[in-house]
Amino acid sequence: MKQTLLSLSNLSKQFSGKTVLDRLDLDIYDGEFITLLGPSGCGKTTLLRLMAGFEHPDHGSITLAGQDLTHTAPENRPLNTVFQHYALFPHMSVFDNVAYGLKMEKRPKEEIRQRVEDVLTMVQLQDFARRKPHQLSGGQQQRVAIARAVVKRPRLLLLDEPLSALDYKLRRTMQVELKRLQRELGITFVFVTHDQEEALSMSDRVVVLRDGAVQQLGTPREVYERPANLFTARFVGETNFFPGTVESVHDGSITVDVFGLKRTLRQPDFTVLEGQKLHVLLRPEDIRVLDPADEQGVAGKIVERNYKGSTLDSVIHLADGTEVLASEFFDEDDPAFDYRLGEPVKVSWVDGWEWLLPEEAG
Ligand code: ATP
Repeated sequence: MKQTLLSLSNLSKQFSGKTVLDRLDLDIYDGEFITLLGPSGCGKTTLLRLMAGFEHPDHGSITLAGQDLTHTAPENRPLNTVFQHYALFPHMSVFDNVAYGLKMEKRPKEEIRQRVEDVLTMVQLQDFARRKPHQLSGGQQQRVAIARAVVKRPRLLLLDEPLSALDYKLRRTMQVELKRLQRELGITFVFVTHDQEEALSMSDRVVVLRDGAVQQLGTPREVYERPANLFTARFVGETNFFPGTVESVHDGSITVDVFGLKRTLRQPDFTVLEGQKLHVLLRPEDIRVLDPADEQGVAGKIVERNYKGSTLDSVIHLADGTEVLASEFFDEDDPAFDYRLGEPVKVSWVDGWEWLLPEEAG
C-alpha cells in the first residue's frame, strides 16, 4: 500500500490577476520519483516553489505526512531544493560545501565527517573532497549540489530542471545516476523538466501539466501508451493522429475504419457508438513502410528520410494530404530501406497498437 507523503489540495495561484495554478490536487507517494512535465509557462516552477514555501497559494492547502505546511516558512519544512543554477560556495572545498548545513546545525564533528563521506561516495565524488568547485566539471558540480541537498536527509527533495545546463551526453549519464541515488536514499524526489524523454526514463510517475492544470498523472507507460487527451499525446513523444470511424462494436471489440483499412481492437473503459468519428493515435515506431505493391496499407509518397543510427525516420504524404511519421529500426538487408524521396510506398501499422481518443479530447 502506497503512503501519501505530500498532499496538495485545491491549490490556486495567480500572479497579477493571471491564473498560474488552477485548483490543483496532487498526492505524492512516500519514496517515489515523480516528475512535473509540461511546456514553458505551464506552472511547474510555481508548483515547486509552493511546495518549498517560497510562494504561498491563494487557495488550498499543502500537507506533509499529515502535517499542514501551507503557512510554514521554507526553512522549517523537512525538504530541500536543487535548482538548475546551483550556487556552490566558490572558496570552500567540496567537503565543506556539503558539510555546511550540518555545521550550521552544530552536529558533532565525527558525525559530520561520516555523513559527508557517505554522501560523497554515493555521488562518486569521494576522491574530490579537497577540490574547489572551479576545479570540477559541470556534472561534478551538479553532483556536489545534490550531495549538499541530501546530506541533511530531507523527507522530500525538489529538483528544478537540475540537468538542463549540462550537455547531452552528461545529462544522460546524470539521469541514470540521479535515479540510482534516489533509489539508494529512498528520499521522495519531485523533479521538474520540460524534456519528455527525461521524464519518461527517470520517473515512477509523471504529472503532465498545461496552463496550471493536471492533464494526466500516471506511470511513464500510461502517459506514453495511453494518453488521456490530444495534448498529452502530442507533448509526450511524437504522434500520428489518423481520422477513424467506428464501424461496429461487439462484446468490447471495436472495429474502426481508418483510411479504408478495418482494424479491430479492444480498449477497456472506452465507450463508443457505431458511426462515431474519433482520433486514432499511432506512434511513429508503430508505423510500417511497405512496398507499393503490398496488398495491405494506404498508398503514399516518401517526402523525408532521416537516418538516425538505430532507426530510419520517414515522413510520408498520403493522397489526402495526411502526413505520417514513421520510425523503423534500421536493417540494411530490408529492401524497404532503399526507398528514395518521392517514391510511392504503402503505409501500415502494427495491428492492435491503435489508441483511440474521442474527437473532442482536445
Ligand atoms: P519554464 O519551463 O519556462 O520554467 P514553468 O512551467 O516552470 O516554465 P512558471 O515559472 O511556474 O512556469 O511560470 C508560470 C507562469 O507564471 C508564467 O506565465 C510566468 O510568467 C508567471 N510567473 C511566475 N512567477 C511569477 C512572478 N513572480 N510574478 C509574475 N508572474 C510570474
